[in-house]
Amino acid sequence: MDAIERVGAAIGLREPDRVPVDLHNFQMAARVSGLPMSQIFRDGGLLAEAMLMAWREFGHDMILLENGTGCNAEACGVEVHYRDDTAPVAGRSVVSSLAKVADLQVPDPYVTFPMSEILKATRILARQVGDKAWICARADQGPMDLAAQLRGIDELMMDMATGEDEELVHALLDYARRVATRYAYALVECGGRSTSIGEPIAGPAMISPRHYRRYPWDHERRMVTELKEHGIILHLHICGNTERITGDFIATGAQVLEIDHKTDAARLKKAAQGVTCLLGNIDTSLLAFGTPAEVDTACHELIDICKPGGGFILGPGCAIAPTTPADNVHALVESAKKYGSYSRT
Ligand SMILES: [Zn+2]
Repeated sequence: MDAIERVGAAIGLREPDRVPVDLHNFQMAARVSGLPMSQIFRDGGLLAEAMLMAWREFGHDMILLENGTGCNAEACGVEVHYRDDTAPVAGRSVVSSLAKVADLQVPDPYVTFPMSEILKATRILARQVGDKAWICARADQGPMDLAAQLRGIDELMMDMATGEDEELVHALLDYARRVATRYAYALVECGGRSTSIGEPIAGPAMISPRHYRRYPWDHERRMVTELKEHGIILHLHICGNTERITGDFIATGAQVLEIDHKTDAARLKKAAQGVTCLLGNIDTSLLAFGTPAEVDTACHELIDICKPGGGFILGPGCAIAPTTPADNVHALVESAKKYGSYSRT
């Protein structure tokens, strides 16, 4: 089985030859390349080269391509600050009043920076290794997170808490969904085999499960449904411990749930078995500060929990730190070969 078949089997909830491995390593890849991240994350050619260098070193099955969490926001007019040694961050919001939501235009990813650069990186990766590695080209932030960047997180929290303009909040979430969906189509057109959205602000660490269901959930579900109707696989990434929203998280219909290390993998595996594929959830702090032996042990334990029946991709629980030692990443990748074989079960 090659990497494409292996990942395809896992997402299809079948047992591959062994557990596939994903790396969420755009910052580490950029750091190793030696150029300032502010340059790499604005240039599709440089970003692709950095991701290719990392893939040649680690040989992981799935390449997760992104340039941080400000891509969609910047395309929608938010100022994004690029820094030399870490990922870019979105600056001041642009939706000062919810009444302005109706005026917002969905950007064309092919001609709007920096989406156009990530599309370029996707095309390069697809051309060079698209038959050897599964490329997940991330459509950046999902409805909730992009809405928070556009409106301002405090303002959006207040909008939701008062509930006075619920229809307009939904209009903003709907706009954010359309932005990410339009971008997702383009990423797949350029060679992504799947796409993904990050929704850190949708997690229980940021909003209550009740508000998750009331606000972003239906927009996430609609995005999944629309893309699925076009044969496109969407991963949903929610940071932090998602156990309190397990039922709704799964009910979005996302074919892959990217889970953070704070989530109990055994409980989620039980709930997701035969329904959706799980991706995760090795602690990024362990990868950054642990030893290869400790990474190996953690991966072995996780594989034993999540491997049975397929539907599992081993990877970090979130983006790995730029300074993560290469030996720890090797230990993660190798652990899938050591402990992840399905022929032994
Ligand atoms: Zn995360």
